[in-house]
Amino acid sequence: MSSTSIIGTVAALCTTGAFLPQILKIRKQGGKDVSVSMLIVYLVGVLLWLVYGLMFHARAVIWANVVATILVTIALVFKLTWQANTGDKNRPESRRVRVAVDMDEVIADALTRHLSLYNRVTGENLTPNLIREVGLTSAIPPKYRAIFEALPHQDGFFEDLAVIPNSQRALQILSSQFDVFITSAAMEVPDSFDAKFRWLRDHFPFIPTSNIVFCGDKEIVDADYLIDDRSRHFARFRGTGILFTAPHNARESAKLRADNWGEVLAILMKKQSALDSQESLNTEMVETELAISS
Ligand SMILES: [Mg+2]
Repeated sequence: MSSTSIIGTVAALCTTGAFLPQILKIRKQGGKDVSVSMLIVYLVGVLLWLVYGLMFHARAVIWANVVATILVTIALVFKLTWQANTGDKNRPESRRVRVAVDMDEVIADALTRHLSLYNRVTGENLTPNLIREVGLTSAIPPKYRAIFEALPHQDGFFEDLAVIPNSQRALQILSSQFDVFITSAAMEVPDSFDAKFRWLRDHFPFIPTSNIVFCGDKEIVDADYLIDDRSRHFARFRGTGILFTAPHNARESAKLRADNWGEVLAILMKKQSALDSQESLNTEMVETELAISS
């Protein structure tokens, strides 16, 4: 083999094989630092080299660029899969991951009070199980629907609601890793602002008041994750929605669902691990995460 051929072969091996360590790194640590644009432009380049090799029957050019095409495609697929799994498309590198958390049926048990008042007023026996089995609309006779919808507007409805199990500890844990925001569509019941704010100060004092958002449409929320029992809030939300299971949504299909706060922690810790695997997870947090799964 001539020296020219040796140089050409070694050069082809180096430029073709250069993507192997990159693929291993994306697979192991995530693709945070890899540019999708660079991969796409590089892929176009090697495909054009492949066409060139075929046109001139240059075997060395053909095999080198076939292998390069395969490796770049693998790197691109890993990068895009990682990006989709971490919901990282829009997050600036400089800020922590933001987790937005709904109130009613996610951290505050409004349903128990709602059903209690409804049954007292109507004489019905509406239960979470019935809602779970037939859906909210079918569980309430048409003649009582206006009553059901009006109950949250009563004075004192949002006072002293029970806390959803494990939500306090889970939000404490999440607050150490993420920026946690409470996002409630409180404009649906404007008179609820005071009661909701007091309830949050009583039960979640570690959430700064600057991280409490009472809004109308949650599209305005600029977060990476939204944990909510109403899937309609995910429609225009730009991050990843996690549907928190409640009786009224039990029959809905969801891309991502958590039945309790242990499952929310498991999902978010896994995402965070994919996002930055160089930072090992705190052992105590993982143990607690498992301990509070209900
Ligand atoms: Mg809710």
